[in-house]
This record gives sequence, C-alpha cells and structure tokens, in this order.
Amino acid sequence: MSLSGGVNKGAQSSKQPSTKPELDTLAVCRAYGYPSRTMDLANIDIVMVGTTHPGNIGAAARAMHNMSVSSLVLVDPKCPIGEIAYARASGANAILDNRRTTANLQEAVGECGLVIASSTRVRSLPWPEMTPQQTAERIRDLGTQTRVALVFGREHSGLTNAELQLCNYMVNIPANPEFSSLNLAAAIQVLCYEIYKINADPVEDRQLSSQECAATSHAIEGYFQHLEQVLTSTQFLDSENPGLLMQRLRRLYQRLELTQSEVNILRGILSSVEKYKSG
Ligand code: SAH
Repeated sequence: MSLSGGVNKGAQSSKQPSTKPELDTLAVCRAYGYPSRTMDLANIDIVMVGTTHPGNIGAAARAMHNMSVSSLVLVDPKCPIGEIAYARASGANAILDNRRTTANLQEAVGECGLVIASSTRVRSLPWPEMTPQQTAERIRDLGTQTRVALVFGREHSGLTNAELQLCNYMVNIPANPEFSSLNLAAAIQVLCYEIYKINADPVEDRQLSSQECAATSHAIEGYFQHLEQVLTSTQFLDSENPGLLMQRLRRLYQRLELTQSEVNILRGILSSVEKYKSG
C-alpha cells in the first residue's frame, strides 16, 4: 500500500511540522534503519461462497477497492457476473475482471495460512471468535509472507459447519441483537475498513523461513485426513459412531495456527504409529 512508501518530512527536518503525525514511528524506524513495514493488502483474499445476487458481488468489489483490497475469489457463485454486478461495482471493474472462481471452499483457501470465517450464526460446536479489530491485528501481525482468506457466506444461509471447520477463526461484527445480519457487501466493507485502518500502523518486519510460516490450509487438510485414517486404524475413532471427535480435533488444531514444521512433526508421529502397527 502506498503509505509504506510515504515520506514523512516532519521526521527529516525539525523545522517542518509533520502533516501526518500517525506516520512518525514509520519514519523514525526508517531513519534509524529498523526494519518496518505496513501490511501487504495484496495477500488478502475476499472469498464469497455461493453468492446468489450479482449486485452483492459488484458492491463487494466496490467496498474492497475503496479499502485497497483487490483479490476477490468466488466459490461456486449462483449468479452471472454481468451487467448488474459491474453497475454496482461503480468503476471497481478490475476487481471483477481479475476474480478467481473455484468449485469449493477448500480449493479457494488451499494456499492460505490463515482463514477467517465471517459469520453471524451461533454454532452447536462454537468456533474460536475474534472481533473485527482483532482480526485486522492478527492479519497485520502475521507478516507479509502469509496469504489470508476472509470468507463470507450465502445471503440466505451463511456458511455450512463443514465450511466453518476449514477456518481458523470466526469473526462476528457486533450489531443490533434484534437485527444482526448485515448485507453481504456491508459485512465485507466493515472488515476491509478495519484492515485499511490498521494498515497505517507500521510493525516490525520478520522474515520467516518457509518452515516457520503458517502452514497452508492445504497442508492442514492433509494432516486432518492422515489423523482420521490413523485414529480409525487404532480404533480410537469409531467410524460407525464418530460423534464430534474430528470436529473437536479440527477446532483444536485450527486454533493453534500450526507452522509447516509443526505439521511435519505431527505427520511424522502419525507415520511412526502406522509403522509400529504394521511392524
Ligand atoms: N442468514 C444468514 C446470514 C447471511 S448474511 C445466516 O443464517 O448465516 C451473509 C453473510 O454476510 C454471512 O454469511 C456473513 O459472512 C456476513 N455477515 C452478515 N452479517 C454479519 C455479522 N454481523 N458478522 C459477521 N458476518 C456477517
């Protein structure tokens, strides 16, 4: 984002007052050579699942462009992206032109290291929840090497439990308890605004090795499948009567935000159990 390239004249000369005092820390970091950065908003995917109204997709593109977020992913859209969507985008056409479309949510978020579901619904198995501000802070603190997905549900039925279980966290936008469901594009606007706002604060840049970065959703899914296989083979999991065991384990591991090296260790443990059993 352009703020990271901004020059704070106030920090260069004590005679010139700063017109943007909120950027002082960034300028000081630069002057003394501390590594600092703002977020890379290009790392953020706005994922809309099963959207039925083209106007909501267009309005979402507009909301995103207003907040400098540009990557739109449509999962199994239920409407054409044509005249209505472009009219509502009001000029944010590039976001619609460059959209990615996938058949399911797993495919959409496979390369992401942090996946956050935006949801209003209370679930029978509650998922770890964050506020919009905490969501923005979490994304900023991740560093620039991790891809992030913010996932939004269907107009009439939101996200399924299986879709929520692909996510690390759930974010709920506080609203009138009697009328708490926002229009889809309005919900996208609120979360993108929180991200835009926090992006003005510089943070220390940490370059992590790929092993220490958050594991991708694809790698975590591979682990869950392996885990289920091993737990079934040791009869810890009764496939006839699985109950909520796998959902609870998913919630536990999603909350941990595993790194790639941790996933490798966990898979190594599973492989050693398999080897022990077969030997
Ligand atoms: N009736 C649906 C809600 C649909 S609103 C349900 O039962 O879940 C469409 C989408 O907008 C939701 O899936 C969610 O992603 C987002 N949304 C709307 N209001 C929200 C709120 N208060 N907090 C978080 N997300 C919200």
